[in-house]
Amino acid sequence: MKDGMRKVSIFGATGSIGQNTLDLIARAPGSYDVVALTGGRNVVQLARDAVAVQASLAVTAFDDALPVLRELLAGTGVEVAGGEAALLEAADRPVDWVMSAIVGAAGLAPGFRALVQGRTLALANKESLVAAGPLLLSQAVRHGATILPVDSEHSAVFQALVGEDIAAVERIIITASGGGLRDWPLQALARATVQDAGAHPNWDMGQRITIDSASMFNKAMELIETKEFFGVRPAQIQTIIHPQSIVHALVGFRDGALMAHLGPPDMRHAIGYALHYPERRVLPVARLDLAALATLEFRAPCDTRYPALRLARAVMQTGGGAGAVFNAAKEVALDGFLAGRIGFMDMSGVVEDTLDAIAQDICLHDVIETLETVLQTDHLARIRAREQVAARPTHR
Ligand code: NDP
Ligand code: MG
Repeated sequence: MKDGMRKVSIFGATGSIGQNTLDLIARAPGSYDVVALTGGRNVVQLARDAVAVQASLAVTAFDDALPVLRELLAGTGVEVAGGEAALLEAADRPVDWVMSAIVGAAGLAPGFRALVQGRTLALANKESLVAAGPLLLSQAVRHGATILPVDSEHSAVFQALVGEDIAAVERIIITASGGGLRDWPLQALARATVQDAGAHPNWDMGQRITIDSASMFNKAMELIETKEFFGVRPAQIQTIIHPQSIVHALVGFRDGALMAHLGPPDMRHAIGYALHYPERRVLPVARLDLAALATLEFRAPCDTRYPALRLARAVMQTGGGAGAVFNAAKEVALDGFLAGRIGFMDMSGVVEDTLDAIAQDICLHDVIETLETVLQTDHLARIRAREQVAARPTHR
């Protein structure tokens, strides 16, 4: 019945990227056969989508959510499973293409497993590259797997590099909207609430990445992601504030040419490019009206406002386990902010102090050669980061 269709699985199907991926699949009837869908707590959405696309398997990452999922899918013919081991088993199911869109370090192991199976991995989960970039890339080569970027900036760079020699690249510039607090006075940032930081001016995304956009931790992660994915030197990577989010990235070549990728802020472009790759298909994104846009602004980001950018530079310089520590500490700091335990500007302090503290435990420069080592480093960094959160006065 499903002959000739490309088999796909979506990890993090209930999230913002996952839902957009399903939207694109629904618009390409007859092209894609959905094998596994995974989610977390939102089992109602997961069950609804699994039935709609006639998935073979629906997995919730949480054991305690499995009974409800099982009940919701009883009699539908969709197989159900729950827990971390079930996520890995889902990654073993033979498919042609896997979307990695779980949020946070939890996305690392399932994506890694798919790579080891030699799949094409559409990578939205930037945490994977930040925590384990060199390992992921070497495993992809070893197992004949392909990684396609889904982050809009990296998709833009990837597209600008088609047919080009990476040796001819002088610099890569990724743009940043500046997030929801872009125009706040510097002194007011310490008092920003979750609600303030959770409203993005241009993009509609999950809550965590939206707050990371306001703090620029998202862009900091993306600087590291750029270094790892394209193999360029940190000095070749720049970021610039571009409030309109129309230009996603620019690639500068040694002959002076600067190639920009433009588009409306709609993730379905980058997701669709990775889904249909290497074909370019018609996508349901708005077409830009340049005359209506009239102006595109750019300005250099201020390091005092965005300490995360400075920290990312230090992490790129150190290499080794620094990325895994940076990512884990950032996740713990964000949890602390979401819980109202620390303030908005405390997040970068927690990350910086965790990087300093953990340097007493392990040699951060050491190359990480296994997934287990990445996960151990992540685990230790979380312990140290929680200590840093606890050491801070309760935020009001
Ligand atoms: P969302 O928060 O919207 O969705 C996250 C997904 O992960 C949901 O399916 C969620 O399940 C699932 N999930 C949550 N916790 C766990 C866990 N512990 N184990 C397994 N699954 C879990 O995130 P986004 O879609 O915004 O982002 C996904 C990834 O893509 C992130 O890495 C983000 O940085 C990246 N990205 C996102 C962009 C965007 O526009 N949204 C742009 C570029 C990159 P449930 O909701 O059912 O609990
Ligand atoms: Mg991005």
